[in-house]
Amino acid sequence: STPLRLVVLGNPIAHSKSPAIHRDFASQLGLSVQYERVLAPLQGFDGTVRALRAAGVAGANVTVPFKQAAFELAGQYSEGAQFAEAANTLVFSPEGIYADNTDGGGLCRDLNRQLQAHQLSLADCEVLLLGAGGAASGCIAAFKQHGVQALTILNRTVHKAEALALRANRIGLPATGAGFDTKAIATGLPRVVVNASSASLNGEVPVMDVAWYRDAVLAYDMMYGAETTAFMKHVARVNPALLISDGLGMLVFQAALAFEIWTGRTPDALMTLARMREGLGQQHG
Ligand code: NDP
Repeated sequence: STPLRLVVLGNPIAHSKSPAIHRDFASQLGLSVQYERVLAPLQGFDGTVRALRAAGVAGANVTVPFKQAAFELAGQYSEGAQFAEAANTLVFSPEGIYADNTDGGGLCRDLNRQLQAHQLSLADCEVLLLGAGGAASGCIAAFKQHGVQALTILNRTVHKAEALALRANRIGLPATGAGFDTKAIATGLPRVVVNASSASLNGEVPVMDVAWYRDAVLAYDMMYGAETTAFMKHVARVNPALLISDGLGMLVFQAALAFEIWTGRTPDALMTLARMREGLGQQHG
């Protein structure tokens, strides 16, 4: 049978783990899928997509720096893509291009999986989100969909946190935005801390009131690839009782959601996550 042709578009793209993840999904389910990396030129993203569609490609994952461009060329989109004005998943059909943003759904699935250890789900919790860039904005609609009680966004550039919080309020999620110097406010709700800042990439941790970590049950760094990050080490020191995770689960679960959109089939993403950790020489988690 002719394979379903899928690609991941980015620049750079050489280090993308998406082909390994999607090939694992396809082999689990016995599906004929061809999933390739494509280094897209920085200019003319719509031309790149047009050529791939003409060549018979059925869908694409999209990564840095094309997530906004991917959203802009779609005729239909999910709520999450619309909120973020960015897409990580495209579906090509004769009728046109559909854009989705599975990053937020992937994150929430991993958060809920880990919260089970405390018999909690996101619907019981408040979220403290560090950072107000693309990754942060991509998760807001999913937080709303998963019933998050309240959201605080802290960012280095304060007006970006405030603007994002205002937009979250508009979709019905109670949210406030502020700077990292803001004192922690106890609400009595279990708190999930999500680091969506790129500070970890430079081995840095946002300097904050440590009381933010006191009522927390889970601290999650979106960064992945290293056994542990600067953020993970920092929070472990501040609150040794915290559940702490890197972002590899988010990566695998966003891929699983995209795979479901393209094929209608549900892979065992936990099995793939375990294989990815093994491949990175990491402990299972
Ligand atoms: P952006 O460039 O859009 O945003 C970066 C954010 O980090 C901004 O809020 C910026 O603040 C903040 N920031 C950068 N440096 C520092 C610092 N030294 N101290 C404090 N804050 C800082 O990046 P993305 O949102 O696209 O990506 C953020 C992270 O999320 C990356 O590490 C990325 O790898 C990860 N990610 C993981 C995914 C996964 O599947 N696990 C998916 C997507 C992203 P300011 O506004 O002040 O500049």
